[in-house]
Amino acid sequence: MNISGLQKLSLVDFPRKMAATVFTGGCNLRCPFCHNALLVTAPADEREHYETQEVLDFLASRKGLLDGVVLSGGEPLLQEEVGEFAAAAKAMGYVVKLDTNGCFPGRLCALLDAGNIDYVAMDIKNSLSNYPTTVGIPGFDVSGVRESAAILMKGRVDYEFRTTLVRELHTEEDLMYIAHWLNGANRYCLQNFVDSGGLIQSGLHGFSPGEMHAFAETVRPYFANVSLRGVD
Ligand code: SF4
Repeated sequence: MNISGLQKLSLVDFPRKMAATVFTGGCNLRCPFCHNALLVTAPADEREHYETQEVLDFLASRKGLLDGVVLSGGEPLLQEEVGEFAAAAKAMGYVVKLDTNGCFPGRLCALLDAGNIDYVAMDIKNSLSNYPTTVGIPGFDVSGVRESAAILMKGRVDYEFRTTLVRELHTEEDLMYIAHWLNGANRYCLQNFVDSGGLIQSGLHGFSPGEMHAFAETVRPYFANVSLRGVD
């Protein structure tokens, strides 16, 4: 598997779990606010690289100390071996979380069918009409995203939807669109954009804490649970 990063301990990437986070290299999208820009835009031979066995050995050495493994990126579903990797982590007794942009519903389904994924966090980039701008791909086809969201809402595994809110890309109308689209979903998390440097595009801004709380109240009636991240 193409692994470009490993966080050996994370307390925030997997709800209520101590986890290791595995970052796969490469992504099919070019979100201007991507904070893993190097994982996405750098040629494969210029990215940091971990051997799959090296990461599996690390996970084996942490059995009983960590609860979970997060498969993040980049876009993990671009990796053909992601199912095998999830199975290996599961066989070690870990709970496994997948972070995905939702573009590959067939691969998502196959992973769920195999039974080695316990939790999925899917990005909802924006209202569907604003997806092309928000993912940096002119003419982007949203059908895969719609299908992935519908698969998760069937509730085969625990899941959350999440949106990173950027002042230059998101409005209250976008959030209302998303709320109606995903009405009834388990969890919706609003993350405030923070400029951590190394983005795909510069000149972007987040929202104030007051604005973020107001957005949360706007969508709260439509979801079982709404939470904020990156907000004081
Ligand atoms: S989907 Fe995620 S990894 Fe890919 S470009 Fe967008 S923010 Fe970055």
